Amino acid sequence: NKTCVIIGASHAGVNLAFYLRNEGWEGKIILIDSDPTLPYHRPPLSKAYLTSNDSIEKNLLKSAENYKVENIDLQLNVRVLSIDRAKQSITLNNGSTQNYDKLVLATGARPIIPPIQGIKNANNLFTLRTAKDVNNIRTAFNTSKTKRVVIIGGGYIGLETAASLKKLGGQVVVLEREDRILKRVTAPEMSTFFMELHNKNNVSILTNKNVVSIEPNAQSNTIVCADGSKFDADIIIVGVGIHVNLELALEAGLSIENGIKVNYTTQTSDENIYAIGDCTFHYNPHYKRNIRLESVQNALDQAKIAATCISGKEAVYNSIPWFWSDQYNVKLQMVGLSTGYNQVLTRTETGAENKLSFWYFKDDELLAVDAVNNAKAYVYGTKFIKSGEKIDKNKLVDSSVIFKPVNL
Ligand code: FAD
Repeated sequence: NKTCVIIGASHAGVNLAFYLRNEGWEGKIILIDSDPTLPYHRPPLSKAYLTSNDSIEKNLLKSAENYKVENIDLQLNVRVLSIDRAKQSITLNNGSTQNYDKLVLATGARPIIPPIQGIKNANNLFTLRTAKDVNNIRTAFNTSKTKRVVIIGGGYIGLETAASLKKLGGQVVVLEREDRILKRVTAPEMSTFFMELHNKNNVSILTNKNVVSIEPNAQSNTIVCADGSKFDADIIIVGVGIHVNLELALEAGLSIENGIKVNYTTQTSDENIYAIGDCTFHYNPHYKRNIRLESVQNALDQAKIAATCISGKEAVYNSIPWFWSDQYNVKLQMVGLSTGYNQVLTRTETGAENKLSFWYFKDDELLAVDAVNNAKAYVYGTKFIKSGEKIDKNKLVDSSVIFKPVNL
């Protein structure tokens, strides 16, 4: 009987294990993670989980029983230290080795800790990637009297955390180094929308704020920016992006380029090793280029392809990227990749507050849609992107016109 070993038990790795059984893989499945907790959903960590008192057991990807039923050998609190490709084996930090026929890297990513002077000695400074991080943030927040929170980084995680801690009664300031929030991923129109949304909710978002040092006081901190401005914080959350966990792949000599390089079947440069999820740099046939994505949908899509291929059948990755974010009463759904756009059109729906969508074009080609409280725009946008159907831009921006793809 063959053995498939999966390193990383989160959205990508866990789903792969179950998809493998669905695909009829009868061999062993060994699923390993250094996290001691049963695998859980990450998106709620900065949203509903942060504002609740729930234990992580309410957010599990699968119950302990599910792994038993499917005969998946889940090994938690164990770190994989190295891969020996010649021997087809891995070494674990508990001293044991494990052979594999097929190995899957689903190692994801970890938060970047920027080189800010004093960051190591700061009081109550957190990143936000794991359940433990959030449990620690909750404890620090609940025991703080003044609840002054400074969030370094105005990306999705920073903004969601700002909205959540505001909801809990925090005094929240977001410091963004760039001249607008979400600069890497959205158009200025979207940045302005979210900036105003936070301002209306009394979260102050300050741009062009490059944090250069953190000075710890007795229990709090003073944060100093390059322009000389200073901010007091009882709690600091750092959300400035991620590093891909690619050290194992690198040391094993696999091809690396902004992530672990995989082909359209999620196979790495070694035919017995696959990689899926946040850690991969993969080809997207629709956009005709290699990309790296940080999204649950991508983890699931790639897990499905890997399961099919490892089971000896054929499948090809061909997905349109999709992502969501919740902040206050706003649900944002994004489909496609906006990189390379030269025009953004905004459609506002009449009669509903905060229901709008941003459509990114490169000339006449629709690249991406950001839909705010607007599931229809998200669904229609997806159809337009997939089909390549030409869009009448005058109709698109006229909210009195019902606008939808022809084949709906
Ligand atoms: P990860 O979830 O990073 O998991 C990798 C696992 O590998 C980890 O558990 C790690 O412990 C383990 N590991 C790594 N190296 C080793 C090793 N050597 N030995 C053993 N184990 C190892 N996405 C969305 O689509 N929508 C959202 O709204 C959204 N919100 C998010 C909010 C937060 C706070 C965070 C942190 C992420 C959010 N994401 C969201 C992103 C989403 O969670 C990730 O895209 C997803 O978790 C990727 O899954 P993955 O399995 O590839 O990697």
